[in-house]
Amino acid sequence: MTDQVVFAGICKRYGTFSAVRDLNLGIKEGEFLTLLGPSGSGKTTTLRMLAGLEAATSGDILLAGRRVTDEVPEKRNIGLVFQNYALFPHMTVGQNVAFPLQMRRRKRPDIAREVDRVLEMTQLGPYKDRYPRQLSGGQQQRVALARAFVFDPSVLLMDEPLGALDRNLRDHMRLELKSLQERIGATVMYVTHDQDEALALSDRIGVMHQGVLQQTAPPGEIYERPVNSFVAKFLGQSVCLPAKRLERGKRSVLSVEGLDGRILVDAENDTCPDATGDFMIRPERFTLAAERPDTADVNAIRCKVETAVYLGAQVEVHLRAGAGAQVQVAVPAANAGDLAAGSGHWLTFRPSDGLYLRGV
Ligand code: ATP
Repeated sequence: MTDQVVFAGICKRYGTFSAVRDLNLGIKEGEFLTLLGPSGSGKTTTLRMLAGLEAATSGDILLAGRRVTDEVPEKRNIGLVFQNYALFPHMTVGQNVAFPLQMRRRKRPDIAREVDRVLEMTQLGPYKDRYPRQLSGGQQQRVALARAFVFDPSVLLMDEPLGALDRNLRDHMRLELKSLQERIGATVMYVTHDQDEALALSDRIGVMHQGVLQQTAPPGEIYERPVNSFVAKFLGQSVCLPAKRLERGKRSVLSVEGLDGRILVDAENDTCPDATGDFMIRPERFTLAAERPDTADVNAIRCKVETAVYLGAQVEVHLRAGAGAQVQVAVPAANAGDLAAGSGHWLTFRPSDGLYLRGV
């Protein structure tokens, strides 16, 4: 399948400051792609360049194979949804949704039919004659969505569209948004700094940092196989420690700051181009054992419990390794055993559990 959206070597500079650097990214038709990153990493600038609201300094943008780099927003046929719904307050829900069709000079009966169809899809039929002020935040956001896709845009762009909603409504709207996107088969580029939202919604996530797209991959891959320690730390919990590679072979042997002994990592988990980098492991990969395992095939670190926090299904255990590193581990509460402060344990993990990454 060809890409619906292509960024080819896109750069955006404001004076000497680079907001987006050499962005190369394709989005497939019907794909839900999320740009995730901290504030100021260049997500909104990227979205605005695709919408035509911001001019790229260099590079090209293609929509369905057509170069649109210098085209005005109206010509790009893109739907937009922002955090502040930007509904017209003096227009009813029906009039708000009809607006993009009127702008495109569609025939009246067509407009009426399309508005009704889209209001039904977004379960807004009963609210057609209400004004935005008579709606809840979630309902207003649904109107903004309906208005963004009523004209059958080639791509839907959403910038923190759920940002103004409270937590419960956000979780609910997230599910609605995903099922609606799947039903209409829209290609979506979504911007957020909320990692849970990105994981729940996206076919692929692109993680941005200082204007550079660090990695683009499906949620599971971003979580399990981050390409560097910035991506590892930005998405989910991790233990990330500076490390040195001592040997390389079927397994890499690392010396990790704060962990005693030699740490083994499978060759395929060693993606660091340099002899110094970061050792990274997810907390759920650890096992706590009373005895040292009697195989050299497993990494085993002597630790003491500092605190253990009971969280229902899991116990979050904060440990201190003999060599000084602080490590947080999630243990199923059912087999947590004795986790009294000061008690000694072996922290174990396999060479397939940890990664040796480029430090960022
Ligand atoms: P947030 O999550 O806070 O919206 P973001 O990742 O979307 O952040 P951008 O809005 O794309 O970040 O901004 C990227 C960088 O470009 C920021 O450092 C910002 O200050 C800078 N920037 C954005 N617009 C301009 C402008 N018009 N002039 C100068 N610098 C700008």
